[in-house]
Amino acid sequence: MAEQAASRSGSTLRWSPNGATAVAAVIGDPVAHSLSPVIHNAAFAELGLDWVFVALPVPDGRAGVAVDGARALGVRGLSVTMPHKHDVVAVVDGLTSSASALGAVNCIVRAPHDDDLLLGDNTDGEGFLRGLSSDFGLSADDLRCVVLGAGGAGRAVAHALGAAGASSVVVVNRDPDRGRLAAGLAGPAGSFLHSDDRGVPDAVGNADLLVNATPVGMSDVEAGGDRLLIAEDLIREDLVVAELVYHPRETRLMAAARKRGARTSNGLSMLVHQAAVAFEHWTGLDAPVAVMAAAVGVQVPGDG
Ligand code: NAP
Repeated sequence: MAEQAASRSGSTLRWSPNGATAVAAVIGDPVAHSLSPVIHNAAFAELGLDWVFVALPVPDGRAGVAVDGARALGVRGLSVTMPHKHDVVAVVDGLTSSASALGAVNCIVRAPHDDDLLLGDNTDGEGFLRGLSSDFGLSADDLRCVVLGAGGAGRAVAHALGAAGASSVVVVNRDPDRGRLAAGLAGPAGSFLHSDDRGVPDAVGNADLLVNATPVGMSDVEAGGDRLLIAEDLIREDLVVAELVYHPRETRLMAAARKRGARTSNGLSMLVHQAAVAFEHWTGLDAPVAVMAAAVGVQVPGDG
């Protein structure tokens, strides 16, 4: 291991994959622009591990074949992104409680007692909570939260906040069925408000945490990048605004929060921390989070 560490991170010897190299991968479509290889390969290099992470494009409907292939090829860790997060539920051998509750898998792990068994986990919620703690020193316990959006990300965040003891999780969404489903995942703390409901400003006004789990703010969403889903004057100095979008790095919501003196972070936080959870599952080692964050241009608070 020491030799490997020297060759992987040292400047004199160059590391390259060999017959013993462990392979981890992400499957999705599209996946060419995924940041996961950058994040995980930085972590492997930092710890001098003989591991490599690659992105594998797998078309819609082919997740089952891809997971069987990964099983046969001895792939040590598999991340799963759109459009396969739901399909993979049916092809793994077991699910963690979060993957089961959400009906979505973003990380596949080999069972510790049996290498042939593949377990599906969902690390998004845990990644979000770790980000809250790392970025703001905030625990979800007793937190009053508003989550905008009820898709895969909104459901994962609502579920994690509820499970971690948030006192309220108000899910705001246009589609009532999806909104109620996400609110239900937060347990007794969860409730739903339609996006047009007159109670939304009050909910935001009373919240400690506002999460944007919609794509509004993304630079490539038509007419979405310059929109705000809530009135700017609802953002108080003591509101924490967690944006899940990370392209652009600062969305209009984040700019508004900064202008109003509120603390804010973008979606790279959740992305890096969910990758850290996956890294720990696969390798059994503590993830070098600061290095993983730096690989995508983020400085972890308190780290230098
Ligand atoms: P999704 O499953 O497609 O859900 C999108 C949600 O946003 C739905 O609730 C939808 O509302 C709502 N929405 C979409 N357009 C809207 C608009 N113009 N106005 C108001 N609401 C709108 O997407 P997702 O996977 O949850 O992802 C949501 C965002 O989170 C994306 O930007 C994604 O990139 C980001 N994300 C980040 C991470 C991370 O690690 N940082 C992880 C996952 C996702 P309806 O239900 O009413 O249609």
